[in-house]
Amino acid sequence: MSNTDYDVIIIGGGPAGMTAGLYASRACLKSLMIEKMILGGQMMTTTLVENWPGYPGGIEGPELMMRFQEHCVEFGLETAYGTVEKITDHGNFKTLLVDGKEMTCKAVIITTGVIPRKLGINGEAALVGKGVSYCATCDGAFFRNQPIAVIGGGDTAAEEALFLTRFASKVYMVHRRDKLRATKILQDRIFANEKIEMVWNSVVEKFISDNSGLTGAVLCDMKTGTCRQVEINGMFVAIGVTPTTGFVKNLLHLDEDGFIRCGEDTITNVPGIYAAGDCRTTVLKQVSTAVGDGAVAAIMAEKLIDELNHAS
Ligand code: NAP
Repeated sequence: MSNTDYDVIIIGGGPAGMTAGLYASRACLKSLMIEKMILGGQMMTTTLVENWPGYPGGIEGPELMMRFQEHCVEFGLETAYGTVEKITDHGNFKTLLVDGKEMTCKAVIITTGVIPRKLGINGEAALVGKGVSYCATCDGAFFRNQPIAVIGGGDTAAEEALFLTRFASKVYMVHRRDKLRATKILQDRIFANEKIEMVWNSVVEKFISDNSGLTGAVLCDMKTGTCRQVEINGMFVAIGVTPTTGFVKNLLHLDEDGFIRCGEDTITNVPGIYAAGDCRTTVLKQVSTAVGDGAVAAIMAEKLIDELNHAS
């Protein structure tokens, strides 16, 4: 099929998707980026980004994403809002089912990113919005002068704990091991912050709540077996991420955690389908790596489309 609706369709509008869109539209490919909710992805719920080059002193995540978006518009990238339910491979072209409507293209770039992992404890779903949260920038201000807990030991947990000290009276940082996974600079800030109490080797055993929402939690030390009850009004869960790849699980090779298997060339097991950013198997999940991936995927798609156009 030579006449497809688009040359390339990019699924997801985070840093990887917007970069892929920028490169593809600058290469004069007819390009569409489909976003489910809000352009900018996880960066829209991030505070200060300190490791994006060129911004000494940092830049707020949403502001950086607004600049990405403006840059895409400059090159004429089309954006649509919708949910891609299915991709069907027809060899030289692909069909996407978007909210029940079909669209065709020659290449697809998947940049659907990740969503926060849940604790999986009884009562968790019912307490979301009543004390349990997965986003400190979204919900932190609700806990002014109240004690809260952050669960996890990675970069996200560390950044959230530090951010939450602006509002909370006290922050318990509950980690299942005796060493944080977070980068050294964040660890140093955590240990220097008087509002943060580390609760090592511990997991959440259960939530305590009343009609108003979360009032406490039982935390258990896995080494000693002892448990303690803490009074908290908020709990921010930051225990890693799950990729948004369910819609391609019957088409693409995924790893055991659901990430799309591909290398740095972003090429998946289906020719013409590329995966970029956090949704693929990567050693590092950063804006900078997502941006690099988006650029690679767009260049790969451009090469393929060139070959298809010359063959037809
Ligand atoms: P992560 O690095 O995978 O860390 C998840 C943390 O949660 C780990 O400390 C892990 O413990 C703990 N954990 C996992 N499952 C758990 C469970 N069921 N119960 C209790 N604890 C559990 O995830 P992340 O912090 O969300 O970061 C994701 C990626 O984004 C990482 O590559 C990170 O570097 C990156 N990131 C970077 C920045 C930045 O550069 N500014 C900011 C945020 C995120 P263990 O340590 O024992 O495994």
